[in-house]
Amino acid sequence: MENTNHAQQPWPELDTWRFFNDLSDPVFIFDPKSLNVCQLNKSAIRLKERFEKDGVKQFDAEFLTGLLLVDLRAQIAQLSCREGDVFRFEVCHLDLQLDVILQMMCSSGSEPLLVGVFRDVSALADVDRMTNELVSTVSHELRSPLTAIKGAMGLILSGAAGNVSVKALQMVEIAQRNADRLILIINDILDLDKIKDGAMVFDNTEIELIETVNDSVEAIVGFRDRFDVQVDVDVKDEGLISNIDPNRIVQVLVNLLSNAIKFSPEGGRVTVQLKLHGQLNRISIMDNGEGIPVSDQKSIFGRFMQVGSKNRAATGGTGLGLSIVKAIVANQGGKISFESQEGVGSTFHVDLPAVVDYVAAKANKSGSE
Ligand code: ADP
Repeated sequence: MENTNHAQQPWPELDTWRFFNDLSDPVFIFDPKSLNVCQLNKSAIRLKERFEKDGVKQFDAEFLTGLLLVDLRAQIAQLSCREGDVFRFEVCHLDLQLDVILQMMCSSGSEPLLVGVFRDVSALADVDRMTNELVSTVSHELRSPLTAIKGAMGLILSGAAGNVSVKALQMVEIAQRNADRLILIINDILDLDKIKDGAMVFDNTEIELIETVNDSVEAIVGFRDRFDVQVDVDVKDEGLISNIDPNRIVQVLVNLLSNAIKFSPEGGRVTVQLKLHGQLNRISIMDNGEGIPVSDQKSIFGRFMQVGSKNRAATGGTGLGLSIVKAIVANQGGKISFESQEGVGSTFHVDLPAVVDYVAAKANKSGSE
């Protein structure tokens, strides 16, 4: 392992790092104060050389900060030696996409060190992109023939194609239900692509969020009754206004509500809460359902992700809902997050920029009183 030892500091014995050397992922060890690279494994040397060959003068924290556009020092300053306390980010440079994990490494008797693992995920990203392109192309090609098949089945069911036996009608009905499901999946995939390509039209307007919440709750009445789950609205702060496309945010809330209902026990209760969260308007959808296992929590926003005990057929989901939700919320300048505990329940938060600066308004109000 190369020891650049920029800082005059008693670094632990080289043996301590020896096992890093054989890792296929590049590992850089930084002095957390100066952010100079102190040690690096073989793979990191190759990565550094590759960057330097492409004109990067110094592969250091300054360079990464420039790529990341976030204050790396501030992020690192917050890192502790606690297990699981990591700062993870992706950087793209030249044709490389790197998944970076920074973590403090502490041992008694020596200063903490900052370990950075820079995994090259370019190939994975390429595969991901190609898979998405393939899925999109196939979906596009399937939509028209499927719509035609569904139309023909509709004609048979309506009797327009002449008399058909009861048995045949039952079979066509099943076929039509399945065609509906396929069309649903295809439309979801194409929606996602449209948002990603910036081709989806958003018609934004300033609106009181309670209207959007009420419209969403109304839209899932049938679904709610089918699963025998109660849905309540809890307004903590009145008059919250955001500049949004109401139809798209209804789409988001309906999706989150239908998940909360699907994963609730019979006779369960789902609450939609509306409140001010810092400077943002927060809509939270809370359920006391089965929750999401910690091991799956990282991936639920991915395409076709379904976890938990209920399978696709049981829930009628496509595994695309949350990726669409995330893309729409991001487009509206908002953020989606969640908390979940297995066996206890889940809460999904949609944070949207507020039109009024409530904090300033409140301060003004209390100042003038
Ligand atoms: P689907 O269309 O299958 O519901 P989503 O993308 O909306 O797909 O959700 C992905 C997965 O996340 C679901 O299949 C489910 O496993 C999990 N999930 C989402 N919301 C909840 C929730 N409120 N409670 C438990 N699991 C959830």
